[in-house]
Amino acid sequence: MKYKIIVDKYAGFCFGVSRAIALAESCLSETNHGSIYTYGNIIHNARVVNSLREKGVISIEHEDFTKLTSSDTVVIRSHGVPAEIFRELSEIGVNIVDGTCPFVKKIHNIVSEYSSLGYEIIIFGDKRHAEIIGIVGNCQNTSHIYADFNEFLDKTDNFKYFFQKKLAFISQTTYNIIDWEETTSKINAHSSDFTDLKVFNTICDATKNRQNGAKKLSEICDITVVVGDNSSSNTRKLYDICAGNSPGSAYITDGFDLTNFRRRASELISVLSRQPDTPGKTLTVGITAGASAPREVIEEVIKAMDDSIKDVMQGTEVQKTEEVQDTGAADNTADESFESMLNASLNRRVHKGNRVEGIITGFHNNEVTVDIGTKQTGFVPLEDFAEIPDEDPKNSVKIGSSVELIVTQVNDAEGWVTLSKSKADARSGYERLEKALNNDEILDAVITGVVKGGVVATIKGVRVFIPASHSGIRTAKGDENAENALNALFKQNVRIKIIELDEKRNKAVGSIREAMNAERGAAKDKFWESAEVGKTYTGVVRSTTAYGAFVDLGGVDGMIHLSELSWDKVTHPSQVVKVGDSVDVTIKALDREKNRVSLSYKDPNGDPFTNFTANYEVGMDVPVKVVSIASFGAFAEIIPGVDGLIHVSQFSGNALKKDDEVTARITEIDADRKRISLSLRAIDVPVDENVPYVIPEETE
Ligand code: SF4
Repeated sequence: MKYKIIVDKYAGFCFGVSRAIALAESCLSETNHGSIYTYGNIIHNARVVNSLREKGVISIEHEDFTKLTSSDTVVIRSHGVPAEIFRELSEIGVNIVDGTCPFVKKIHNIVSEYSSLGYEIIIFGDKRHAEIIGIVGNCQNTSHIYADFNEFLDKTDNFKYFFQKKLAFISQTTYNIIDWEETTSKINAHSSDFTDLKVFNTICDATKNRQNGAKKLSEICDITVVVGDNSSSNTRKLYDICAGNSPGSAYITDGFDLTNFRRRASELISVLSRQPDTPGKTLTVGITAGASAPREVIEEVIKAMDDSIKDVMQGTEVQKTEEVQDTGAADNTADESFESMLNASLNRRVHKGNRVEGIITGFHNNEVTVDIGTKQTGFVPLEDFAEIPDEDPKNSVKIGSSVELIVTQVNDAEGWVTLSKSKADARSGYERLEKALNNDEILDAVITGVVKGGVVATIKGVRVFIPASHSGIRTAKGDENAENALNALFKQNVRIKIIELDEKRNKAVGSIREAMNAERGAAKDKFWESAEVGKTYTGVVRSTTAYGAFVDLGGVDGMIHLSELSWDKVTHPSQVVKVGDSVDVTIKALDREKNRVSLSYKDPNGDPFTNFTANYEVGMDVPVKVVSIASFGAFAEIIPGVDGLIHVSQFSGNALKKDDEVTARITEIDADRKRISLSLRAIDVPVDENVPYVIPEETE
């Protein structure tokens, strides 16, 4: 006898389940996490759940949340969860790894959007199923769940309950596609009874393919076997389809009880082999599997079926052929509006180099998972999110936020895509830098590295090299101070001008020096627009010389002469200021053509001559101290900052010398020229009131 085993091409794990399991397993390979949990069993397959538990991935329920800590990881299974669960887990601070299938996520988006627009959401599916609980938990408004169209008719008094309402219909992703077609055509026939009607075909491609495959298998096979857990919704649907087409010859098995399965299969094969038309006929066995059936279980069932046939056919020649059949041809009945709602996304393909937008759905130690609107899961290196050196990149990962990415690798077979944020940043960064280069713009940046010959800044993801000669630091080869100064730039905020850009060669060169010069030039113009004598500025002392101090006024340097540093006698600027000091100065004189600005650092209210004139007058005898000797006389300090001249003609007795302390009479005060004449002689020689003093003209 000949027999043939046909395995449906789509039998087994769907991409949504593969993805969730891959996410849970990838957490296991990380080292610095707390405990790893899945919210509910990750799939409806006890074998997979047990295997994960043995590896340390524990299934928890809502009541177990109290034992979670912020170092734990919780993997959300492909069925998705109510929005409230996300909120609670976020508040606990656990590491959330979102394994919600993108098909289910899209349904969440649909119900959230339409319920917030005032539509009542009508859901067809199993109200106890985790997927439906998650969908309801993402509705912002009233939702209603019906197992099937009959229940809907029954509970809505033949549609009447919903008349004049805005309705949005969706189904569980694993709903029976034939039932859904019938249901939606009847609902559409009533569209005029509703204020508005939206019908979304939300049955996923994986379900469509498996259901189509099951239907075709059961049409062409003598026996059909559905591998999967009885509690799995999509597995039950496959069985219903097969049993509907070939009652009595369809099996469902989870692969655990193969002995019983073999016994029952043998009985059926035996019956079939005794059929009158059996001789010469090829017995055909079709095998399909639910979306949560692992490959190895399918293999075990195929082998058990094989063994059963051989047992029954003992003593006869048995010829076996085995094939994998593409029974699940793509279904073209999908509702156009659903296709557009999904943005053709689940059929959308991305290719290496594409620039895409992704929504962050979770992260674990070194990968961030993103939804890029395709079937595949997107993975981005966590390190791409580090904005500044040494910062924990997790600080920049915000679940639910969008991020621009470049596709670096696509693996359709395994259902994943790798992406790069740093490359996407660099691409938009180059665009930004090009604009800055063309417009002579100056950009803010942080120095992210010190390298041979200069420093490096990262601007919008682009590494910009700043040669030492453009760093704004005076450098000379082997100059240790210059090297230290370059090192000190690390992590500093700087302003940069782009001076060379070549994206193809991945080259960007910047200059802090040119940015400084440009900003100084602009500040200089601004200074001269408003500068005037008497105006006060705050500046920074840039350097000092024997005759004064130079002050940076912001674009322009001014000079404070020694005599303008203090009302007291100053012999070197260092007695009053030092380089780096912030000083308030007043403009004494301006020469725009020569770009010269004379400044004063003296306190305008501290002029000692004002103090002198307030307390002294001509004729007063005052103690003075000789501070310097000239050929024409001696200068003597009356009060700090105020000296008077004792002309030689006004000496009395011996000549004076420096530091002599004597009493002198004030004989004249010239307030305009701030000059004071003193006399010793006037004290000793009685004054003839009729003979005025004749004081010789001073010479300097
Ligand atoms: S059955 Fe469909 S919706 Fe469910 S996980 Fe698989 S692909 Fe996603």
